[in-house]
Amino acid sequence: MSTVAFIGLGLMGEPMARNLLKGGHIVRAFDVRTDAMTALANEGAVSADSPADAAAGAEYIFTMLPSGKEVNQAVFGENGFAQSMNENTLFIDTSTILPADTDEISAKLAANGRKMLDAPVGRLAQNAIEGTLLFMVGGSESDLENARPLLNLLGDEIVHCGAVGMGARMKIVNNYQSTALNILTAETLTLAEASGLDVKLAIKVMSETTAGRGHMSATYPKQVLSGNIEPGFMIDLAHKDLGLALETTAALRTPAFLGAAARQAYSIAQSKGQGRKDWTSVYITLKQLAGLDT
Ligand code: NAD
Repeated sequence: MSTVAFIGLGLMGEPMARNLLKGGHIVRAFDVRTDAMTALANEGAVSADSPADAAAGAEYIFTMLPSGKEVNQAVFGENGFAQSMNENTLFIDTSTILPADTDEISAKLAANGRKMLDAPVGRLAQNAIEGTLLFMVGGSESDLENARPLLNLLGDEIVHCGAVGMGARMKIVNNYQSTALNILTAETLTLAEASGLDVKLAIKVMSETTAGRGHMSATYPKQVLSGNIEPGFMIDLAHKDLGLALETTAALRTPAFLGAAARQAYSIAQSKGQGRKDWTSVYITLKQLAGLDT
């Protein structure tokens, strides 16, 4: 049984702290909303007055806060826990924050011999309740092994992404895809509905094609990621097909923000002579634009 400080008891933090409590640990909880601590206190958690108070005597300190500003405040602000941490305490930040903030916070702590993991989570509040989160962890192997029994109470998948800061970076990459794809999905279903299609039927059809199966699992592993850019489906044809869809969105006056931007990317790939290569080779074009080795 360990003493665990938990700071930030919102949609995610409260059920996570509860799962630590259920796992038999002593939980010292803090949130700026004092009412957020009531339910947990009734279940046996200790309500703390500040981050420093929460961390007093704790072997582990978790934060689950909105952004880097609040994490910084909890660590280094007035009554921040940097003052009550010692070299045996492990700080685990599970918030989604800018990697540059993670780098700065971890460097300041390391300069005083204090240990930190960044461990942002994938999945949603329901998974926090069920203890089925996915953790993307940055930090040393030994710190991760130290944290693992606690993370196992909160999640069912732990991925070590590299040194401190790499968990935060993985989370940003993951969110880029998931948040942008959400808009593309909304654009697509809006187009389906405006075209007079039954949306459920459209989803059923697309679940059986690359549209719904997703490039990461359906096309990229077989094509561009294995060095094969000979066409299964050519960029020229993708450019043509997206053009047909954009003409249709224009006629129906449905939004096509991401579709319009995607067509530009296919056009650029064509201008670089990739037109008769596989559509996944647009990845090579984008890497060239980013100045990466191809
Ligand atoms: P939330 O707003 O429900 O919870 C944040 C909590 O932090 C609140 O209870 C708030 O009062 C508290 N807080 C704010 N400033 C504080 C401070 N200085 N000191 C102490 N407590 C403070 O947000 P959430 O949905 O729980 O998200 C938390 C983090 O998890 C965010 O970084 C979010 O991006 C990330 N995340 C959320 C989800 C999700 O599905 N909700 C999924 C994955 C990751």
